[in-house]
Amino acid sequence: MRQRLLSIFCLVSTLALLLGGCATEPNLYTGQTGYYAYTWEQELQLGRQSDAQIVQQMGLYQDDELAAYIRDLGNELLQHSAIKRSDAPEIYQDTEFTFRLLDSDVVNAFALPGGFVYVTRGLLSHLQNEAQLAVVLGHEIVHVEARHASKQALKQQLGQIGLVAGAVIGEQIAENKDFAREMVNLGGELFQLATLKYGRDAERESDLHGVEYAAKAGYAAGEGSAFFRSLDRISDKSGQSIPSWMSSHPDPGEREKTIQELASQWNAKTGQTPIVGEERFLAKIDGLVVGQNPRNGYSDGQRFYHPDLRFQFDKPAGWSLQNESGAVYLSDANRSVMLAFTIAPEKTPLAAAQALASKLSFEPTYAQDTHVNSMPAYALEGSVTTQSGVIMLHATFVQKGENVFTFLGYGTSASFPAQAGTIRSIAGSFEELTNPDILNIQPYRIAVTRADRNAAFQDLLPDRLPPGTDAHDWAIMNQVELDQQIERGQLLKLPASTR
Ligand SMILES: [Zn+2]
Repeated sequence: MRQRLLSIFCLVSTLALLLGGCATEPNLYTGQTGYYAYTWEQELQLGRQSDAQIVQQMGLYQDDELAAYIRDLGNELLQHSAIKRSDAPEIYQDTEFTFRLLDSDVVNAFALPGGFVYVTRGLLSHLQNEAQLAVVLGHEIVHVEARHASKQALKQQLGQIGLVAGAVIGEQIAENKDFAREMVNLGGELFQLATLKYGRDAERESDLHGVEYAAKAGYAAGEGSAFFRSLDRISDKSGQSIPSWMSSHPDPGEREKTIQELASQWNAKTGQTPIVGEERFLAKIDGLVVGQNPRNGYSDGQRFYHPDLRFQFDKPAGWSLQNESGAVYLSDANRSVMLAFTIAPEKTPLAAAQALASKLSFEPTYAQDTHVNSMPAYALEGSVTTQSGVIMLHATFVQKGENVFTFLGYGTSASFPAQAGTIRSIAGSFEELTNPDILNIQPYRIAVTRADRNAAFQDLLPDRLPPGTDAHDWAIMNQVELDQQIERGQLLKLPASTR
């Protein structure tokens, strides 16, 4: 179960009703009146609510030490930021920031209004040192303090849906092709919202001050340009032709040059030897998970397995399956019906069925106690009349241990009847996972290793790479070329040999 972007939109659209209008508050850099779609108070509220949703849907990476490292570095940079300067208005100064590490292999960093900054484990695996992380965090802090999302929302009259959608796309960089495809599949309106970016001026402003804060904190901020170069390599390699995503970023060549120049100016002013922090950073990410983590659930052939929650069920041939942090979504080849698999908050199948029925003003055609592979269950079928027509649905609630697992399949009165049998059989295939090989499956991880000889990078890679990655991916992760000569003793991120 993994991330679900779509429901973030849903959450935020309800919030959009609460807020709105235009706010005038001082611009932190100029002191002059700035115009924003929301007051700072509203941005704080929006950030808090969206943060809860993002944590639930994308999931936090389970490594307290690494999470604390990012938080501490974020807070250190904050001490050099405009928002914490003693002459900044109190509403800004009092804002506490939250820095989070998300359990996603998509290479991304983003910020939400009100002081929420996120980096993914996919991003960490592509950084080479602490200075680069400092520049990324500094850049995101600036998006928050300069209120770029709120400014953009005012300009485009998009309301919160666009504001948060755009923010979550963040620095873009969808290495994962499925993620890119998913974004494009959003279609029409949602795709437009998703392609909302802060704009070139905002990105330049974030680079400008982000580099400043990193340098003032003592870092070799010029390192940031090497990381931005590797982002370009990722986009080139994944072959995404989504120009609107890129168009809001400053020209990559210009960006690298500007970052280098700014960094050397600031580093000269501080008068100390700037910190790169390669060994320290690489020691922190030694053992980091790469690629998708099968312990969060994965499908293999026509079966979906969840080792951590110890269950499995069928994925019919031709159906698509999307595994997200809080739910699994299945759909037939024509996308005519949808099946959502979640854990109900209720304690029993009956209570979960009653809660669903009362929420939906549901007209049942069938409602009964049953069993699924000898686990107590409750099944429900019927229809719901909505403004856009009748929705037919089937729900099965299964008690397994403490949890009530829910299958909720639905479609229109035209599409549902033909698929109802398949939906019932998916729910009926739910059972305990007992295969020890699957129960013990482990994700692939990075091993930080010193090169044992002088050789081209590609010759130092093991013969077998984790599935879904190739030599080029590992070169990008290490910020080197495939044929680049590596000296003996140089630190490399290589795939760990055991899984
Ligand atoms: Zn940015």
